[in-house]
Amino acid sequence: MIGWQVATPAPAAARPLRRALVPVPEPAVGQVRLRVAACGVCRTDLHLAEGDLPPRRPGTIPGHEVVGYVDALGDDVDGAAIGDRLGIAWLRETDGACGYCRRGAENLCPASRYTGWDADGGYAEYAVVRADYAYQLPAGYSDGELAPLLCAGIVGFRALRRAELPPGGRLGIYGFGASAHLAAQVALAEGARVHVMTRSEAARQLALSLGASSASGAYEAPPEPLDAAVLFAPVGDLVPVALRALDRGGTLSIAGIHLSDVPVLNYQQHLFQERSVRSTTANTRADGHEFLEIAGRHRLAVTITPYPLDRADDALVDLAADRVNGAAVLFPSG
Ligand SMILES: [Zn+2]
Ligand SMILES: [Zn+2]
Repeated sequence: MIGWQVATPAPAAARPLRRALVPVPEPAVGQVRLRVAACGVCRTDLHLAEGDLPPRRPGTIPGHEVVGYVDALGDDVDGAAIGDRLGIAWLRETDGACGYCRRGAENLCPASRYTGWDADGGYAEYAVVRADYAYQLPAGYSDGELAPLLCAGIVGFRALRRAELPPGGRLGIYGFGASAHLAAQVALAEGARVHVMTRSEAARQLALSLGASSASGAYEAPPEPLDAAVLFAPVGDLVPVALRALDRGGTLSIAGIHLSDVPVLNYQQHLFQERSVRSTTANTRADGHEFLEIAGRHRLAVTITPYPLDRADDALVDLAADRVNGAAVLFPSG
């Protein structure tokens, strides 16, 4: 089959991905094999290709927003059948035994393994996954629309939940890309009032068209105090800005894997009156199931830019240059 491998990490413009002919993977015990129908291109793939996340094994195939159809079953597989449409996400495996796993925080497991980093992902025609880490997917979406839900969607949803927005509350969203625009739709569906602060005029228009109450520049104050805020932009300078926008008792949740340095905070201005700030690390499977269940009940608008699998390297170059509208998605069939 055709699969793209990270040869030697380098800037996207230097084409670090190599198109290769590799054996079709065989499902091991407990695994299923998917014929890949669509695979989203996540910013983390860019970090892998460019070496910000150092390779954990040579020639790994990236891609952790994989939508496909089961075409082979390993031994001892429960709950999946030939022809099922399933998703493969970033969190691939945990030990299930450590203190974090036992208390329901498997996203913090020190032994966790990741699709497209520790094992081959979905920039390919076939991919394998443990059946108990694969996701059943909601009806009413195309294969391509489902792909970005599997990372941008789930991780943004966890960040939203960690902001502890009260029912009917006032939510601030800082930055408005693939992940934020999905989390905002969940908050709106649940009755929140949403204020979006972002530098991009196009993103502000999108926010208003989806139902946000206001949209303004990234450093501007929202029109009312916030019960909760989520920082999606990887910009530490926005942490004090968002904390100042919180009402008493409000929570700021930071969504990203990477954040530039946070400036010095002032206790009285930014934290007193029980305002808090928290980070978000990947997601648990429970987050994924809950988010996909909500996506099945509330049709989310998902904007994608399609690429044939043969142009995976072009998709990464475009993502690096911020030229992608919505989420880039690869299609093996062209
Ligand atoms: Zn564990
Ligand atoms: Zn991702």
